[in-house]
Amino acid sequence: SEQILQVKNLHVSFKTYAGQSHAVRGVDFHLNKGEILAIVGESGCGKTVTSKAILGLLPKENTIIGKSENSQIIFGGEDLLKKPEKDMINIRGRKISMIFQDAMTSLNPTMKIGDQIAESILLHNNISKQEAYKRSLEMLELVKIPNAKQRMNQYPFEFSGGMRQRAMIAIALACKPEILIADEPTTALDVTIQAQIMDLIQELQKELNMAVILVTHDLGVVASVADRIQVMYAGKVVERGTVDEIFYESTHPYSRALLNSVPKITSMHKETLYSLKGTPPDLINPPKGCSFSPRCEYGMKICRLHYPDTKVLSETQESSCWLHHPKADKSGLPENTVK
Ligand code: SF4
Repeated sequence: SEQILQVKNLHVSFKTYAGQSHAVRGVDFHLNKGEILAIVGESGCGKTVTSKAILGLLPKENTIIGKSENSQIIFGGEDLLKKPEKDMINIRGRKISMIFQDAMTSLNPTMKIGDQIAESILLHNNISKQEAYKRSLEMLELVKIPNAKQRMNQYPFEFSGGMRQRAMIAIALACKPEILIADEPTTALDVTIQAQIMDLIQELQKELNMAVILVTHDLGVVASVADRIQVMYAGKVVERGTVDEIFYESTHPYSRALLNSVPKITSMHKETLYSLKGTPPDLINPPKGCSFSPRCEYGMKICRLHYPDTKVLSETQESSCWLHHPKADKSGLPENTVK
């Protein structure tokens, strides 16, 4: 299928008082037209930094984006990293849109919902106010907000959390973007509303034929909606594959640990939840070898010395782990850990 976005060797560092923190360390991936790609990992893994880099939303003052590494973000045949802010303003919202976790902080509390949607439509389109208002109403109906006409005249505080997130989606999609980046879009919501918003995103993705990047720490919420999953750890992609490959044939100890920490909602019994022990490494002084080695229960000596090569396991799946090395000691591992 046709690729709509390519991220090539992306490096992002932040200047901090303690030194340079290398938040994204050589990330490569592509997004296909009309697919939902989930980028999954714990906080600090670089998933949000990567999506902000795509939109040119990283603070200019203290960010270094890999010039020497020739980092590129290719969209529409052009490198977004080379575009001046005045061009990025036209791309953001119109061609690539973003929704965030907390709709309350992204919506303007003093402005009626209808006016907020109309404003974002007017920003990118040369149409009359009346026309923009009409389209805003259509958008609220598209995201299935009941009594959309009355809702147009209400303020964000009059909306429930789930309804606010729907309104955010309406604003993000008002200009029919080619790509939607949704960063933890349901984290602040309760479980049933989470599922409704995910279903809505999936439905709209099909209807508008957009590509979606879904950024989340929770593998559970993407299982039923994503086409592919990319797992990130400490600023690198450690494994990627189709949803089935990650859920049923994952070969990477970190992906498996994430999978094990997904609560099983279908289970009638209360199970003790496996939670990931330890914390991700300090990215000012990242470990020399595999970044997961301090927490990995399968770690070998070589893991601490050298970063593992990426092994291609199928057309869609690849994984970076020393367990794929033919000489790795695989005793004591679950049977389907390694192909
Ligand atoms: Fe664990 Fe080694 Fe694989 Fe890293 S390379 S995930 S430490 S087994």
